[in-house]
Amino acid sequence: MVNVRLPIVVHAAEPAVEKLATADLEARSEMTATERAAARLAGARDGVLRAGPELIHIDVTNACNLDCTPCWNYSPLLDSPRSPRWKRGRLDDAVFHRAMAGATRLGCERVIFSGGGEPFLHPGIYDFLGAAKARGFHVTSITNGTLVDWSRVSAVGVDRLLLNTCGASDETYVAYHPNQPRGAFAALMRNAARVAGRVRINTVQVITRQNYFELVEMIELAHRIGAARVSFKLVSVSQGTERLAPTDVERQELRETLIPRARARAAALKVRANLDTFASQLAGESGAAFPIEEIGCHAGFYYSRIYLDGRVFYCCEHFEVGDLRVAEFDEIWWSAAYERFRAKMRRGEFLPACHRCGKYDLNFSVAKELVRVQNVSDADLQNP
Ligand code: SF4
Ligand code: SF4
Repeated sequence: MVNVRLPIVVHAAEPAVEKLATADLEARSEMTATERAAARLAGARDGVLRAGPELIHIDVTNACNLDCTPCWNYSPLLDSPRSPRWKRGRLDDAVFHRAMAGATRLGCERVIFSGGGEPFLHPGIYDFLGAAKARGFHVTSITNGTLVDWSRVSAVGVDRLLLNTCGASDETYVAYHPNQPRGAFAALMRNAARVAGRVRINTVQVITRQNYFELVEMIELAHRIGAARVSFKLVSVSQGTERLAPTDVERQELRETLIPRARARAAALKVRANLDTFASQLAGESGAAFPIEEIGCHAGFYYSRIYLDGRVFYCCEHFEVGDLRVAEFDEIWWSAAYERFRAKMRRGEFLPACHRCGKYDLNFSVAKELVRVQNVSDADLQNP
């Protein structure tokens, strides 16, 4: 049974963070995983925060060895490239361990390693992955796969890799990853297939004008390499990459022809894919705008992002809600500053960046859950 109390915001004397009463935090850390899941959903429904995040996302490094065409940081099409100083940014050990400790106290269940660059360029990545596993988290890393020691990833016990694939053939792979040679795609897929029985592989297919026509082949590729899931995502364009967004005609082809075919192929091959979310993204007014108003933002009850310098962001868009250099992560999660941002999102006061929401998949899933439980009473929802 969930014993939920309403949050009591204490305006603390110290300036770092306005925090909740300690007794309240302790009560929350005793919840079971099922209770926390119910409490998060109840929070997304009524706006009252009752549990820690399900998932934290840790930025490991801003450095990358690739130049994916739609990348916000490394695309050759960007109007203004990132500075060398920014690209050298790297996660600090102390920030990592502080985030882990706070996430543990909050009853967080999953950790995703990623960043503005490629996590496997950080020399400490295998230590970070191992430390998160040792704390009992479900561990995922986003990666382009080109620098991964596949045996070591499997030995450390990583649960899942979100593999930047973005194509289903050598041609589309090279078009999307211009600094990669012919043959790189086949080698990457061979490596992924080799560990797919021990590490769940999700092929991540960011859909642009360069690869949209391979939607069905992307499903078949996942089947061939033994991937657990295909994560489709409509490209988020800005600052020079706008030409990569599928045109109105291409979006229509996706909606009316390619998605239905991909659905049928996925069903026949028993491949899991988020084609419903992808179809929802395509329902926006243009290829550059996701219909976020229709599903709402629920990320503040489920997710938090830790930047490599210790700043805590509400989501992938760097909306700052705290800083691990001056406060513990659990204090920040329950702080008034975080609450203010949650309330803003609940009021639908979206920011321009929300129309390319990086947590659309999460927000879409929660919105679907909220529809499912719309006739369930608060008491039943919190006492599963
Ligand atoms: S692998 Fe990721 S960080 Fe690197 S260029 Fe591609 S999208 Fe950008
Ligand atoms: S981009 Fe906007 S809508 Fe998406 S998670 Fe962040 S705040 Fe919410």
